[in-house]
Amino acid sequence: MQLTNRRKEVSHKEQSIAEKIYLPAILKGMAITASHLFKKSPTINYPEETRPIAPVYRGQHVLKRDDNGAERCTACGMCAVACPAEAITMESAERKKGEEALYREEKYAAVYEINMLRCIFCGLCEEACPKEAIFLTDRLVDTEFERGDFIYGKDKLVEKMTERIDVSKRQTPEVLEFKKKPGLKHNELFDSSKQLGKGKKH
Ligand code: SF4
Ligand code: SF4
Repeated sequence: MQLTNRRKEVSHKEQSIAEKIYLPAILKGMAITASHLFKKSPTINYPEETRPIAPVYRGQHVLKRDDNGAERCTACGMCAVACPAEAITMESAERKKGEEALYREEKYAAVYEINMLRCIFCGLCEEACPKEAIFLTDRLVDTEFERGDFIYGKDKLVEKMTERIDVSKRQTPEVLEFKKKPGLKHNELFDSSKQLGKGKKH
């Protein structure tokens, strides 16, 4: 029974002198090489040039601040639990009086680290976060020479107010519509003038 059409008859005919010194094979190889001289090179001069990437590309994470500049993360640990690569670690701390403008919730991540060598950029941390604090972005993780440099702390992860990262285009219209629901309190902006000195939860 013939399973494929790749069957070949083995030839036992005597090789010519040219075949014995591999001349046809060498000429065929050189012709293939020469044909590539006239083709457009598929390589690019990265990092000066970059290839276009999908709008939902999952690259380096960002820990978002709200519009008042306060860190959104409340160190609940949901992202770390959801992470299949166990790439996220954090240490929580309690917000002190006067720090309301720095941290949105009463608890915040004093230390927050992602091991980029472990991360598989699946995006589950983003999906698990109840505070819309962590998002994957279209930024590429930098190349490093030391393994330790791939452990990104808050200095690299928390967004700077001078260089805010727009993640709205990465969310589907259905998700954006869902987030308008009145029950989702954490989507409201934090108004420090209403909260200071009242000891209210938000
Ligand atoms: S993208 Fe996936 S693997 Fe990377 S930190 Fe988030 S949950 Fe973990
Ligand atoms: S990033 Fe989100 S899920 Fe992770 S600890 Fe902070 S608030 Fe919780």
